[in-house]
Amino acid sequence: MIRDPQAIWFDHVAPELGFTDADALAQAFDLKRYRLAQIYRAANKELLAGPADVTTLPKQLREALTERGLSFSSVDPVVIRRSSDAQTTKGLFRLHDGNDVEAVLMEHYGERTTVCISSQAGCAFACAFCSTGQAGFTRNLTSREIFDQARYFARELAARGKRITNVVFMGMGEPFHNYDAVMGAVALLNDPHGLGLGHRHITISTVGLVDKIDRFADEHLQVNLAISLHAPSDAVRAAIMPVNRRFPIAELMAACERYVEKTHRKVFFEYVMLDGINDTHECARELAALMRGRLYHVNLIPYNTTPDGPFAGTADDRIWAFAAILEAAGIPITVRKNMGRDIAAACGQLRAETQPKAHSA
Ligand code: SAH
Repeated sequence: MIRDPQAIWFDHVAPELGFTDADALAQAFDLKRYRLAQIYRAANKELLAGPADVTTLPKQLREALTERGLSFSSVDPVVIRRSSDAQTTKGLFRLHDGNDVEAVLMEHYGERTTVCISSQAGCAFACAFCSTGQAGFTRNLTSREIFDQARYFARELAARGKRITNVVFMGMGEPFHNYDAVMGAVALLNDPHGLGLGHRHITISTVGLVDKIDRFADEHLQVNLAISLHAPSDAVRAAIMPVNRRFPIAELMAACERYVEKTHRKVFFEYVMLDGINDTHECARELAALMRGRLYHVNLIPYNTTPDGPFAGTADDRIWAFAAILEAAGIPITVRKNMGRDIAAACGQLRAETQPKAHSA
């Protein structure tokens, strides 16, 4: 499916101001088509702050747009927190209706920078170990609300001569539960007339919605797919991830096989290490058996403990022992570095501090 990023952006430019699409905006301000392209470029390629800064527009138009409240961002940073080592910056962003979502910037050594963005306010899937899941679902974000979290960090990095190299959909929400808006956000991120981020530098992480994995395979995009597996057996997985009752592991793995067959792309499996839950040697051997002989890669993730939660993270030496079993079985794995522990950087943790309960939908 072809998605026109400029149309998507103008569709969401300011519904609260009555501008529901490019035509409505053009009509209200008597704009020619090329003016729309100028505005889009100023916002998303030049990353200017707002219409007032677009010197290529006539002064009168700049003033009219500013006066009507047209903003280049649909999300408003309300808390920005930097980790003590300055490698992780977490943002809490307010949406026009008062809901908050989180996004995180991780600056690795060298040029690589990864922004982690949210696709929903809250989440409907209730994974037992996840703060967002425990707070419940509020609403879907629009393509632009998703994209604008990345745009915020793109501007922040640009001011320091840097740029975003990677985006992951690993913030709040389930991307495949808001499928169309997420694909629209991917189109915005990728647009060469805007941010211009390559599909291969984007990763969508899912709790494992089998029907949507099939749909995604049919898109034939170069976007990476990550599956939150977190357990190698139905008994353990269902205990921590309610979604497993709808899509058990055998169905999930069959969908992953179909995806690899269709796209010839690698699948990444996320596995958060929970003390005494999914970190036994037996789990490692079962996981190795599920992964064997396929185009799969396992990411072992140290658990970011959530306050008051019943779970503890597996100790580092036992994570490495678990990793060694997978390695001995020939499974490609990475042990993820824990970043931003001092700023509540894991999914939903900052919002849980500032906005204890999700609004009911
Ligand atoms: N709904 C999507 C994306 C959400 S979160 C999904 O399930 O993949 C991205 C990843 O962070 C998921 O693998 C999720 O299980 C994991 N996660 C959630 N809370 C965490 C925590 N406290 N510590 C470490 N990883 C966590």
